Amino acid sequence: MKIAIIGLGFVGLSLASVLASKDYKTIGIDVDKNKCEKISKCDLPFFEPNLERTLRNGLKKGLVIGNDFSLIDACDFIFVAVGTPQRPNGAIDLSMIKKAISSIGKILCKNNKNPIIIIKSTVVPGTMKNVILPILEKESNKKAGDDFGLISNPEFLQESNAIKDTKFPHAVVLGGYQTKYMIKTKNFFSKLHPNTPIIITNHQTAEMIKYANNSFLATKISFINQLSNICQNISGANIDDIAKTIGLDPRIGKSFLNAGPGYGGSCLPKDMKALINFANKSGINSTLLNEVEKTNQKQITNIISILEEEIGNLKTKRITVLGTAFKPETDDIRESTSIKLIKKLLEKGARITIHDPKAIENTKNMFGKKIKYKKSIIDSLIRSQCAIIMTQWKEYSKITNSTIRHMDKKIIIDSRRILADKNINAKYHAIGIGYDK
Ligand code: NAD
Repeated sequence: MKIAIIGLGFVGLSLASVLASKDYKTIGIDVDKNKCEKISKCDLPFFEPNLERTLRNGLKKGLVIGNDFSLIDACDFIFVAVGTPQRPNGAIDLSMIKKAISSIGKILCKNNKNPIIIIKSTVVPGTMKNVILPILEKESNKKAGDDFGLISNPEFLQESNAIKDTKFPHAVVLGGYQTKYMIKTKNFFSKLHPNTPIIITNHQTAEMIKYANNSFLATKISFINQLSNICQNISGANIDDIAKTIGLDPRIGKSFLNAGPGYGGSCLPKDMKALINFANKSGINSTLLNEVEKTNQKQITNIISILEEEIGNLKTKRITVLGTAFKPETDDIRESTSIKLIKKLLEKGARITIHDPKAIENTKNMFGKKIKYKKSIIDSLIRSQCAIIMTQWKEYSKITNSTIRHMDKKIIIDSRRILADKNINAKYHAIGIGYDK
C-alpha cells in the first residue's frame, strides 16, 4: 500500500512520520521546496515534541519527501493536510486546498489507479460537495465514487501532543458516500487504530463535527475565564480549585478548564470565526458563539487594566512578557494571545522584552527590532517594571526571588497562576485568584 500526504505542516508531517515509521510506503509532498529539503535531512521546520524521533525513524524506513506532485501517481490513499487560514472577514481561505486538489486531479486524469483522496484540512460544511468534489471531477475527467474515492476525515490533534494524537486519536470521523472506497478507508483506519471508535457519516456532518468540537472547547475556555474574572473580585477565591472540582463531574470533564489569557493558536480562533461567519451567511445569529469570542478578547484587556492600575501610563515603561508561544511545548505563535498583548502594549508606547524557550525566532520574524529578546529569564527581567507570565512553560514555575532581583519594580501578573503557591517577594496578581483590595 502506498500513501501520499499533501501539505507537511503540523498535521501532515506528523501523519507522514507516523505512517512511515509504521512501515507504510509513504510520500510527503509540500509546495515549499526549502521545507522539503529541511525535512528530508530531518531538520524540523517547527518544534513539536517527539516529531524528530518519529521523522528520523520514518526517513530510515523509506519516507520520501518532495515537492513534485507526480510522486503521488501510484498511491492508494492521498491525504490532504494543507492550510485553510482565516481571511480578514473571518471566512476560511480555500486557495491552498483548491490548488492542491487541482494538482491531484491533473495526476488522476493521466493514470488508471482508483485512489482515495482523504481531506484532513478543516473546511466549513458544504466545501467537500460544492468545491472540492467538482474541482477533482473536472481536473481528472473522472467520477467520484466510481473512479476514485473522496472522504472527509477531520483532524483533532493538538500541537505539542501531535505525535501521540496521531498515533492514538480519540475518534476517527469518515465522511462521504457509502461506496467501496468508504469500506476500504474504514478497514485501513481499523487496522491503524484498532481501539479507536470510527464514526461514518456524510461529508457535511463530518465537516461540522470538527467545528462543533472546537467551538465547544472554546466555549469551555471562555466559560472558565469569565468565572476567573468573577473570582478575582471574591477575596480568597481560587479558580483552579473550582475548575478541578467541577471537572470531576463526568458531565463536565476536566480538560479545557484552565483559566488564562484566552484561547489562541492556529485552530480555535480561526475555527470560531469561520463558524460564526458560516452561521451568519446561513441567516443564523450565533449569539452564544459571538459572546465566547468577545469574552476571549476581553481577557487581554483585563490584563492591561491590571497593568495600568499598577504602573499608570505605559508610555516608555519596561514590560517583560514571559512566553510568546500560544501554549507550552510548541514554537507556534499563530494567533497567540501573548502576541496580541505585545501589539497592544506597543501601541501604548511600552518597551517590551520577551523570553520564550522555543518561540524567540518566530517572534523575531514578527516584531524585528520593535522589541527585545532574551534567552534567559533573569536577563529578560533586568530593569523591568512588570513581568507578565503568558505561556505555561515549566521554566516559569522555577522563578524565585533571586530570578526577579534585578527588576526595577517587582510587579508580576501571572495569567497562568504558575507562581501562586510560591512566596514571591513581589506585588503579585494572578488571573482567577481573589485578593483583598
Ligand atoms: P500548516 O500551515 O502548519 O501546514 C500546511 C502546509 O501545507 C504548509 O507546509 C504549506 O507549505 C503546505 N501547502 C500549502 N499549499 C499547498 C499545496 N497546494 N500543495 C502542497 N502543500 C501545500 O498547517 P497545519 O497546522 O498542519 O494545518 C493543516 C490543516 O489541518 C488546516 O486546515 C488546519 O485547520 C487543520 N488542523 C490543524 C491542527 C493544528 O493543531 N495545527 C489541528 C487540527 C486540524
